[in-house]
Amino acid sequence: MTRVFSGVKPTGHLTLGNYLGAMRRWAAVDQHEADALFCVVDLHALTVDHDPARVRRLSRQAATLLLASGLDPELCTLFVQSHVDEHARLSYVLECVATDGEMRRMIQYKEKAAREQRRGGSVRLSLLTYPVLMAADILAYAADEVPVGDDQVQHVELTRDLAVRFNQRYGHTFVVPRATRPGVAARVMNLQDPTSKMGKSDDVGPGIVYLLDEPDVVRKKVMRAVTDSGREVVYDREARPGLANLLEILAACSGGSPEELSGAYASYGDLKRDTAEAVVEVLRPVQERHKELCADPGHVERVLRDGAERARGMARPTVDAAYRAIGL
Ligand code: ADP
Repeated sequence: MTRVFSGVKPTGHLTLGNYLGAMRRWAAVDQHEADALFCVVDLHALTVDHDPARVRRLSRQAATLLLASGLDPELCTLFVQSHVDEHARLSYVLECVATDGEMRRMIQYKEKAAREQRRGGSVRLSLLTYPVLMAADILAYAADEVPVGDDQVQHVELTRDLAVRFNQRYGHTFVVPRATRPGVAARVMNLQDPTSKMGKSDDVGPGIVYLLDEPDVVRKKVMRAVTDSGREVVYDREARPGLANLLEILAACSGGSPEELSGAYASYGDLKRDTAEAVVEVLRPVQERHKELCADPGHVERVLRDGAERARGMARPTVDAAYRAIGL
């Protein structure tokens, strides 16, 4: 059976981008068709300035939302990264295989480091080495596939490079994984700035729809989405990014393709109204289930404890083998 690994970083409240680009498919497809592991990657949340209590709270919230979005602990393994020591253990060994140059070429590093510097902060070394830890997350479980949004494809490529290099140099140890991407909503964009992605780590903004936003808040954000001064509804990612983003969100929520949908609307207002309602309907069951789960915190606790135990059992043989292969 194909082994699938994917993760979500508790650096902020989960967004519609996380859900449409990743979580929804994990629940609807991956956990049924594969031996799937889903991880709240809390170590990755320490790569930028962070508040310890907030990270802990957001980790718990992310795990709860993953369950609310339909992950079933009977079908998949759900756990928190820091509960399993193997990630950090393997990451160090992979740092001995990766090079400084390839780390500095990572687009996300360049963007995030520049942002930290603009804010006057210093860049943590872990921000540079973050893709190696991500490689460890994936390789420790011998994952075949890593379902990710567009933004993570480069990191999965690096993971493949490191696996191949390690195998060639020290003997076959790792499965070389491949990235898989959702057909629609691979990149949900910020409603106020449709040239940048809807990222949860960004400051709270009217351009980001959070999974726990109340229906009226969702409506307001979608209705105020930035579009352009045209009148006709056409799907053109380059020239009309705001409109294209709305069409893609609507397509992802209600089915159909953005091209087809564009022909069905005579005005931007109608498109926005229908998109808002479609998003509200997609979020409704997730929010209801989230509320139920919050009433039973012991359940989430147990799921995460069992998940970590299972994950540890899967990762340890591979990480032990890597230690032996590299001469430890
Ligand atoms: P974030 O960028 O919000 O911190 P994570 O690194 O936690 O996201 O990613 C969790 C998953 O959600 C990844 O598979 C990522 O590709 C996907 N994802 C994140 N933001 C978006 C987006 N705006 N559109 C589509 N997919 C996204």
